[in-house]
Amino acid sequence: MSFSKLGLSDPIIKAVKDLGYSKPTAIQREAIPAVLSGKNILGTSQTGTGKTASFVLPLLEKLSKVTKRGKTQTVRGKRIRALILTPTRELAVQIEESVVQYSKYLNLTSMALYGGVDMEVQKERLIDGVDILVATPGRLLDLLHQRALYFDEIEMLILDEADRMLDMGFIDDISKIIERLPLQRQNLLFSATLNEDVRKLADSFSGDSMEGVGFKNNGLGNKEFYDDLEDINISPSSTSADTINQWLVAVDKDTKSALLSHLIVEEKWDQALIFIEKKHGAAKLVSQLEKRGIKADCIHGDRSQAMREKTLAAFKSGELKYLVATGIAARGIDIGSLTRVVNYDLPFKPEEYIHRIGRTGRAGALGEAISFVAMGDFKNLCAIESRLKHIIDRKEIDGFPVRKAVPVSILNYVPKHQRAGHTGSDNNSPYYGKKKTIADR
Ligand code: AMP
Repeated sequence: MSFSKLGLSDPIIKAVKDLGYSKPTAIQREAIPAVLSGKNILGTSQTGTGKTASFVLPLLEKLSKVTKRGKTQTVRGKRIRALILTPTRELAVQIEESVVQYSKYLNLTSMALYGGVDMEVQKERLIDGVDILVATPGRLLDLLHQRALYFDEIEMLILDEADRMLDMGFIDDISKIIERLPLQRQNLLFSATLNEDVRKLADSFSGDSMEGVGFKNNGLGNKEFYDDLEDINISPSSTSADTINQWLVAVDKDTKSALLSHLIVEEKWDQALIFIEKKHGAAKLVSQLEKRGIKADCIHGDRSQAMREKTLAAFKSGELKYLVATGIAARGIDIGSLTRVVNYDLPFKPEEYIHRIGRTGRAGALGEAISFVAMGDFKNLCAIESRLKHIIDRKEIDGFPVRKAVPVSILNYVPKHQRAGHTGSDNNSPYYGKKKTIADR
């Protein structure tokens, strides 16, 4: 199947070819025709599957449509035609860069809008109107309140990484934005994982005043999808792209940095994005690596936007080979050819693990995801492996014997708060659920 079969016109196909895409990915094959036909979409797809193009390409096609008078519609001052909401500024910048690439043979304008930078420049840029605005919720609302832009001409709303937006506590901001949008519009919601909260967010497109935009109340207190809503589920939320070679190494906390240096040098790692839990830990790890002759840098929430962008650009260009990042700072990072991610600290949530490792093995390329697991991470490991429905391969590294062994998890581990009859008074011993199976969860 080629891009031309999906209903996209020549300028878009040419731009995609310039980027070296030879055929559409699975989500693109499903989502592009659905978006073009005007459907609302709830798309579940991991990052790295070509999700951005799956909504940007048809969006460009629709916005560039020639009208009866032989002209494409031009946007009015302070107006926007398509709004893409993202959880982080990094992701906003990255999506807007994709929009620019995909629209290079079209006459459409786009802009990334996010906090932490001068508002005045952004206000000026909005004066002429923008066809496609990629924004983080907070700054968008600030500018809306200041009447720097109006929502009355929005034709399409895209919520990207909806699960992350919820994780990051944006639900109130998103609700405020949705309430102010025109009722007649197309809604696309993408999320790497689909849980109750994401469904509820999709439901928030409805409500009495908004019935007809994709969701309706079925009268039973539950919502159900309208017929015109396409539920696209490309990869099950519980699994991760099979182009990723995942393995873990059990390690004592105090030997983690030595182990990392050892692997970088001995296994001749060309590149690694290293996730760490705490920001002060990030700076410390960089200096530990540097003491061993390995040049690294870090990004975390306390660094200025300019510094984060500079560091990220150096990493993307290959000038910087090892980047240490806290989970929040790394959200939205897309480096096309990233070969390796390292969980220096194991994340608490399985979703976070899936997101992180999704930074590698993108669009069919091979990637490697390595996790350092200390004994204290055992419960998190159980939760992650239960979610993946498989045990992650373990490697032992010569010269790094562990003092505190990490047991092998049992896949139907049930966290304490989810156990039947839990009274809150259990001791802390790891529990292996006997009553519930993975399928029950
Ligand atoms: P995304 O899931 O949107 O973050 O995309 C992941 C990566 O895949 C990006 O670097 C895209 O440039 C790339 N990509 C998207 N679609 C295709 C395609 N059809 N063929 C090859 N690469 C693609």
